[in-house]
Amino acid sequence: MSELPKSLKAVALPEKNQDDRFATAPELEVENSYKIIDPDSQSTWGFISIDNTQRGPGLGGIRMVQNLSLNEIMRLARVMTLKNSAACLPYGGAKAGIILKSSELVENTAYREELIEKLADCLFELPDYAPAPDMGTNEKDIQIIHNNHSHKLVAEKHSRGGAGRPLENGGIPIDDWELTAHGLFSAAKALEFIDEQLILSGTKFVVQGFGNVGAPTAIKLQELGAILVGASDINVALWNPNGLDAYALNKVRKEHGGLNNYPLDVCKKFSPDKLDWLLEAPCDILIPSARPDAITARNADRIQCRYILQGANTPSSKPVEYYLHHHRNILSLTDFIVNAGGVIGCAVERNLIVDNPYTEKVKQVGLRSYVEKLIDKTITKNVCDTYSRMQNSSDTIFRDAAWELALERLDNQEIWL
Ligand code: NAD
Repeated sequence: MSELPKSLKAVALPEKNQDDRFATAPELEVENSYKIIDPDSQSTWGFISIDNTQRGPGLGGIRMVQNLSLNEIMRLARVMTLKNSAACLPYGGAKAGIILKSSELVENTAYREELIEKLADCLFELPDYAPAPDMGTNEKDIQIIHNNHSHKLVAEKHSRGGAGRPLENGGIPIDDWELTAHGLFSAAKALEFIDEQLILSGTKFVVQGFGNVGAPTAIKLQELGAILVGASDINVALWNPNGLDAYALNKVRKEHGGLNNYPLDVCKKFSPDKLDWLLEAPCDILIPSARPDAITARNADRIQCRYILQGANTPSSKPVEYYLHHHRNILSLTDFIVNAGGVIGCAVERNLIVDNPYTEKVKQVGLRSYVEKLIDKTITKNVCDTYSRMQNSSDTIFRDAAWELALERLDNQEIWL
């Protein structure tokens, strides 16, 4: 088993020297980036990017995976800045990544918890970072960080140490309450406002990545009468133009072999080396909810949907989205607008700790119902506002209009909670 370091330390990385570059349109500067190291051996254990704190501390998840780079963490931190700003939350954007040194460690709870405890010591020195769960971490990990900071602050009640903690500890369980899926569902319903021809009942959709985001999104859409024609996980991709059953898929998704255990009819099955072929299936709405860069120049000409709902972060890039919009008539709804449900839940959780009248207001509605209504209102408004901004220019795309909206809100300090 890989040795745990005695401690972890965040070392500030030098700012990138941009002086030699030609000036372009004004860009957002990254505030601070750190390397997480073992101070004894100087070996690298991860990265943190605190991208922007104009609206408040940088809120964003901790990723614990085998492979990660500073570039990936910085890119994801920027998405968090835009996401939190567009949703008018009192938070900036940040992201952390910690390297799991071998695949066996994924299941080793004791090792993972000790690593998180050491990370918590290291994060205490960075009060501008508010951590949350992300790929490879969960609500219990955030509670470990919270407890670590409670001990250091000698205070039970504090808003250091992150959000997305277990319900029994005063947190809001982002995945159990399916909050990101709730937001994607709101975005799908908002499509009916911007496209009079679209009626979700009877609409065909495909979900790539039947996990914590993809599975509940599929169930919600199916309950509304939409037809799930394709679904995939890391094991297999399934297609049936007459419909797959989201409940039956959800039952098997956590089993060994995942969606391979789906017991009902399928017309096509793609093996792990051809999973991305499912993205090319004809449908009305394609929902990539797995890894970044699912849709690239490689498959942009083969995508056959009308709308893309970006469940995953950065499932495609701006040039690809430009091509899809202007050459293929496919509207791709940007990640930081439509997958903000989880982070809205995190912001509510942190506000409950510090604001008693707010807590009373939320109690009257009921916590889950309050959070769901806020997600619904925010994401519906943002999809419609972004779409109407697009109408100002024939050469724009949804991502550009969403950027413009998020940047405006970085300065205006309006808060929706
Ligand atoms: P998850 O691990 O629960 O699910 C991911 C799913 O994708 C799994 O079923 C996995 O088997 C599948 N998968 C992985 N690679 C695949 C591939 N190449 N083809 C098809 N399926 C593949 O993760 P999640 O929490 O559902 O997150 C999914 C995405 O959404 C991630 O990009 C994450 O960053 C993003 N996201 C998640 C949240 C959240 O609240 N969980 C919020 C915002 C964004």
